[in-house]
Amino acid sequence: MQSEDQHQEQAQNHQVYQQPDPTKVIWKALQNLKLGADRSRWTVHDDAQKKFIALPKAWQLVGKVEGQINDDGTVNFYFDTEHHLLMVLEKQPYNYKGWMVALDRWMNRERPTFLKQIPFKVRILKLPDVYRRHSMVESIGSKLGHVEEVTIVEPTTVKEAEVTVKVHFDVDDQISLTREVELIKGKPPVELDFRYEGLQKFCLLCGSLRHDFDVCSEYPKMQQRQFELMDIGTNPYATAQERNAAVSEYITIKETGESSGTATPMQAEHTSVVAVQRQRPQQRNLHDINIRQEESTSQQDEQGTKRKEVAEG
Ligand SMILES: [Zn+2]
Repeated sequence: MQSEDQHQEQAQNHQVYQQPDPTKVIWKALQNLKLGADRSRWTVHDDAQKKFIALPKAWQLVGKVEGQINDDGTVNFYFDTEHHLLMVLEKQPYNYKGWMVALDRWMNRERPTFLKQIPFKVRILKLPDVYRRHSMVESIGSKLGHVEEVTIVEPTTVKEAEVTVKVHFDVDDQISLTREVELIKGKPPVELDFRYEGLQKFCLLCGSLRHDFDVCSEYPKMQQRQFELMDIGTNPYATAQERNAAVSEYITIKETGESSGTATPMQAEHTSVVAVQRQRPQQRNLHDINIRQEESTSQQDEQGTKRKEVAEG
């Protein structure tokens, strides 16, 4: 009995002796003060948080992906199954609030193309029949991005020919909707139209995916009437007819150079959205996609054409 008491006493002494520096304890306790509780709420990575909710919704995977917002504003998405991850990658492109989103696997993060490419299916219109050949289409497609796939559907009695390329579009490139193309050296060029599946917002002046037209460097060159027309052309409350008419008139002004004034550029910032994907340690069998918010200023990173490898692993 006695020895037990002694032992207890010793233990207590030992505890006292082992106590950490009281100053440390005091200041640690003082952190319970709730300092700042009465101040305004902080919002962290506001946009990342919204994407975090919006994207799994778009993927129809609510509850099946875990999201994690990183300090640098990127978001990682962890998938329960490889199958879901591949499905999400396959169904690209996505947009968030109309701005295009790029996705990538985290395992590709060391590659120069990481978060730098968006896969688009592009329809090539007005290509003369005689040039409807794989090599020709591939060559045209290479001007739009790294070509992954060429699809040529020959015309039938009821359907026109369909020419599409699947390209990995460089996020710093500019969208081309119409272009004169010299198909055969020395022959007159042909004007081709390009239609990007799933493309939403882009700069109507330069084709960038990273900013709105009103912050574009081309903006000061715009005429007042063009500005008004673009407003109508992008207004969801206008009728399709009104929008089409505005776009037609805009094109006419652009082609003929008819002017009615000069618009003043506005100071505004816009951000586009880029997403990445990554893989967590295998034991959890989770996969994820990481999303990054890009500054509207374009980055001059190295560009590559390794997008095919994204599907690996
Ligand atoms: Zn622009």
